[in-house]
Amino acid sequence: MVDATWGTGEAPRDVLGPVAGEPAFDEHRPPRRELVDDCVHCGFCLTTCPTYVLWGEEMDSPRGRIYLMKQGLDGEPMSDAMVQHMDACLGCMACVTACPSGVRYDRLIEDTRAQVERRHHRPPRQRLLREAIFALFPYPRRLRLLRVPLRAYQVTGLQRLVARSGLLPRLAPTLATLESLAPPLTRVPRPPRRVRARGPRRAVVGVLTGCVQGAFFPDVNAATIRVLAAEGCDVVVPPGQGCCGALSGHNGRDEEARGFARRLIDRFERAGVERVVVNAAGCGSSMKEYADLLRDDPRYAERAAAFAAKVRDLSEMLVELGPVARRHPLPVTVAYHDACHLAHAQGIRAQPRALLDGIPGLEVREIADPEICCGSAGIWNVLNPGPAAELGDRKAKDVLATGAQLLVTANPGCLMQVAASVQRLGGEIALAHTARVLDASIRGLPVSALLQPASSSR
Ligand code: SF4
Ligand code: SF4
Repeated sequence: MVDATWGTGEAPRDVLGPVAGEPAFDEHRPPRRELVDDCVHCGFCLTTCPTYVLWGEEMDSPRGRIYLMKQGLDGEPMSDAMVQHMDACLGCMACVTACPSGVRYDRLIEDTRAQVERRHHRPPRQRLLREAIFALFPYPRRLRLLRVPLRAYQVTGLQRLVARSGLLPRLAPTLATLESLAPPLTRVPRPPRRVRARGPRRAVVGVLTGCVQGAFFPDVNAATIRVLAAEGCDVVVPPGQGCCGALSGHNGRDEEARGFARRLIDRFERAGVERVVVNAAGCGSSMKEYADLLRDDPRYAERAAAFAAKVRDLSEMLVELGPVARRHPLPVTVAYHDACHLAHAQGIRAQPRALLDGIPGLEVREIADPEICCGSAGIWNVLNPGPAAELGDRKAKDVLATGAQLLVTANPGCLMQVAASVQRLGGEIALAHTARVLDASIRGLPVSALLQPASSSR
């Protein structure tokens, strides 16, 4: 694990050595040379890269990492330094948006990370932490079980006692990070399997319930289903969905990701839906890449491409449909935060803003430096708590500077990360997923239903 104090100018030194003497990459899906060669070293991506912004190191920039990939393709071994710089990448894809040459850094880093995971020996402590994370997070049932002790911890006052003692960050920094990220848990019933469209049916859609979204933000799934039904969709929630594989895929566990992807394709094919709607940015961006993930699988390659073509972010789906449900006024100022995997990986920026603009009385305010990641990035904030907190605090300051009452975003990781930073800074702002804001407006709820400040709700 990376030292919790890291993040003030020093890069992590947390890896053992490479497989002695061998070239960095084997023949199984190395980063593609033609994609590496697309980089013309112009440097336009540097200022949007959070690790370059933090440390100003060339090798912690997209251009530097691509250079290291090229060295690997030319036969250099997988050095400690190479792994360290690849590990430090958040996978935020801000560089993909910024690059005028259209370099597919997303594909490059995914293939590189898979090579690192297969060919690099991590120290036992780091291996153990990663195994623990991947034995828990991609499994909705296990996460739901975790809700029981976590809720007891929150409601009995134990959480406040632990916070006052200040011991947890000193004794167990990773646990402290996880604890600070956990949202306040409330009881919400499981989503129904099928909900009929209100009014004439315009589409039949399946909804991904997700792992973290399903376990910690079931209210977002409930709101998503209500909004889709109100806009004329028959909504299907296929049972036994499991994980979409985003977390595994983004961390080089490509075989695991393929297994999750195959299972999800099977489940949604059986449901017979026209569209697959996703309300978590990281999941949606991965599912849209299934064709690439399963390109070498003769049984699934075509099906993966057909599935990926049906995937829509919730905001994308609603804009495609066009509104029919009446919007009631919500007099509130909103700061809209672009989740990286929505804005950079899926190119979705206009749709959520258009939906929010469509609510009478609601004012959208822009956040400074919107392209810079909040530091959540899947499990990056758990593996790198120091720099993640730096990025989170930076984002929280920019959010608070808007003076908005409500922060709206479309990713559970961003909500948890910014909430933790707002609390650390002693600020006050409520947080909500786009789905909850639309749902409140369509149902005519008072704005107070959305305005519980993140800091006071803990
Ligand atoms: S994905 Fe994000 S952190 Fe990684 S190189 Fe690109 S901009 Fe930097
Ligand atoms: S990745 Fe794109 S923007 Fe960055 S240096 Fe290469 S060509 Fe330029």
